[in-house]
Amino acid sequence: MVKYEIVIGLEVHVQLKTESKLFCGCSTEFGAEPNTHTCPVCEGLPGALPVLNKKAVEFAVRTALALNCRVNEYAKFDRKNYFYPDLPKNYQTSQKDMPFAEHGFLEIGEPGKSRNIGITRAHVEEDAGKLIHAGVSGQIGEAEESLVDLNRTGIPLLEIVSEPDIRSSAEAYEYLGSLKSILQYIGISDCDMEKGSLRCDANISLRPFGQKELNPKVEIKNLNSFKNVKDALDYETARQTACLDTGEKTYQETRLFTAEKGVTTQMRSKEEANDYRYFPEPDLVVNHITPAYIEEVKKGLVELPSARKKRFVERYKIPEYDAGVLTAAKATADYFERCTALHNGYKALSNLVMGELAGFLKATGKEITESPVTPENLVKLVKLMENNTVSSKIAKVVFEEMYKKGTDPEKIVKEKGLVQITDTNMINSIVEKVIANNIKSVEQYKAGKTEVLGFLVGQVMKESQGKANPGMANKVLKEKLQ
Ligand SMILES: [Zn+2]
Repeated sequence: MVKYEIVIGLEVHVQLKTESKLFCGCSTEFGAEPNTHTCPVCEGLPGALPVLNKKAVEFAVRTALALNCRVNEYAKFDRKNYFYPDLPKNYQTSQKDMPFAEHGFLEIGEPGKSRNIGITRAHVEEDAGKLIHAGVSGQIGEAEESLVDLNRTGIPLLEIVSEPDIRSSAEAYEYLGSLKSILQYIGISDCDMEKGSLRCDANISLRPFGQKELNPKVEIKNLNSFKNVKDALDYETARQTACLDTGEKTYQETRLFTAEKGVTTQMRSKEEANDYRYFPEPDLVVNHITPAYIEEVKKGLVELPSARKKRFVERYKIPEYDAGVLTAAKATADYFERCTALHNGYKALSNLVMGELAGFLKATGKEITESPVTPENLVKLVKLMENNTVSSKIAKVVFEEMYKKGTDPEKIVKEKGLVQITDTNMINSIVEKVIANNIKSVEQYKAGKTEVLGFLVGQVMKESQGKANPGMANKVLKEKLQ
């Protein structure tokens, strides 16, 4: 029972997929030796001047368009001042009052009952370095020494801030999934949480239904997966419900989520924005984003997931559910359309891509772009099923071979003798054998217990090593049992 209205806003940081850093030519490659991708600019040496990465601007504008935002005609950078050992300049170059994008929205929910979640703004900023706390626990308090790696310093980030329009942890989960899908489609980020290229902070407060003003929000940090976001929000909902129930005041604070325990704990009471003494970055000019430039970026936009999903339903006549699964990741949708370009057995193709293929990819830790089963071979398998060469049961066996060896299904079927038995005489003789070996079941059937037919069909399939055509087995059995 939900007693209070849940108000959630999300702040998502994504790493932009540029070759070089935001203000210098250093590489953004992940996993390099510490401090090998640095230069005077990202090391914050006095006198080094930043030059803005053009690609980062293009990516910001592309995202703005995909998220239905207004692209601001003028965008500028500001210095956000604070001290921390991973920030050599003692300020982060970010955007305060003139970001690249504002006032957008993202649609969530099923068609017919969808909702728009407002996007407050999207701004570009640089990442900080990485601190490594050397010691058994890796925690700062127990470290013997701390090391700093500046490879990440200056890597371009896009911060996407939602309006407090999200009303449940499930909606937050959906918003994140949808946002990730869009950002991957438009190619601005890998959105890989494990590599830190997507990070999320969540703001949550509760209020009695009907109350207009918001209660103080709690910001939750250290959310390393979408599931963590959901779990942390559920925990906070319960905690804040208890506070409101007992009349205890909630206040603005930052809390840390510990996934192992599933709890949030207080980190600090929230500083105000003006603690950062933002001021305009004097080393960078104000960016003028012209309508012509926006048009240029628009031309490079691909079909977005929601539009593609709709098209899949209309074009391929597959269920809404299938279309949603197939279009969630661009690579999967691309793979499916490479198949549909070759053959029109759309539903059978969809079943194999969502079922067998997805299962094997997951089990072997492969991406669909690395699939040993090519679209050409998948189509061949569907055709073998359609012309009754293999049963759907045998198709699974064939698929496994295709996946393991990367070979042609026709070859596998021939080599392994997996061709479906559709010869009436052969099926007749198998059925006779099964009847002779299962007298008890046959008697039960004749006495009116017709549900044993399934068992007998199963025996025929077993006897034929799965190769008998199940429809024919069924028919012949029924005839013989009359
Ligand atoms: Zn650099």
